[in-house]
Amino acid sequence: MQQSTIREAFSVNGVGVHRGQECSTTIKPASEDTGIIFFKSDVSNEGAKEEKIIASYKNVKNATMCTQISNENGASLKTIEHLMAALYGMKISNAVVEVRGEEIPILDGSSLMFVEKIKEVGIQKQSKPRKILKVLKKIKVTDGDKFEEIEPFDDFEINAKCDFEAKGLKTDPVIFNFSKNDFATEIAAARTFGFVSEVEYIKKHNLAQGASLKNTVVYNDKGIPLNDEGLRFENESAKHKVLDIIGDLSLSQYWIQGRMNCFCPSHKLNNILLRMLFASTENYEIL
Ligand SMILES: [Zn+2]
Repeated sequence: MQQSTIREAFSVNGVGVHRGQECSTTIKPASEDTGIIFFKSDVSNEGAKEEKIIASYKNVKNATMCTQISNENGASLKTIEHLMAALYGMKISNAVVEVRGEEIPILDGSSLMFVEKIKEVGIQKQSKPRKILKVLKKIKVTDGDKFEEIEPFDDFEINAKCDFEAKGLKTDPVIFNFSKNDFATEIAAARTFGFVSEVEYIKKHNLAQGASLKNTVVYNDKGIPLNDEGLRFENESAKHKVLDIIGDLSLSQYWIQGRMNCFCPSHKLNNILLRMLFASTENYEIL
């Protein structure tokens, strides 16, 4: 697989789900071996210097409710995962992302608009090959009965199962294989979600201030979505978990050759799994 970038820059603006503030993002082409790099400027501090934050698992300082990356100066960006999933899912290895604000816009809660914009501007293949991270040993991380593991496999595949039965949702596992399945049509449109039972807690703790039925599927206590649109896929929420995994694992900065199996995946476990994987060079090799 060759490295690739986008043919032209594009911008996406909108509200951030956590702080509820307007944010703007411009995604620009980048040269080979750049990876994905964020440049953040502060809306409330006009003239302050742009902060560079590399999209790496090492820079994840907080993974509660979203994936947040920070640099050594303490500058941070929230909710990068849906944009990262779109870039990885569309096999974009190099891009510079300029952000004004604290987070990446939530848009409709999925990766769909990023994917549409990437398709619109086009993908530019570059000449250098993309570096591949080949998993050599099975790594498993657990959190109570939740777990994630990654094991040797000749392709990149994600097999995710969730525990939504009690909430009345479909729980069929989602298997996504990068050679056999299509990210743009099968995963990208799956939206973030929540439950009416959580709304009080979220309000009380000032979380998800920008969340609405326009960007979040909200289920009632019978597992029925309250959004006018209904569901985009039968098992949309499990698919969104796969979308989040793709975004989070892209922070490895490599194309992955391995199979991930998980039960109740989370941003936190996704990050711990990568840290465990990279903890020993016996666990992987770079091709
Ligand atoms: Zn998400």
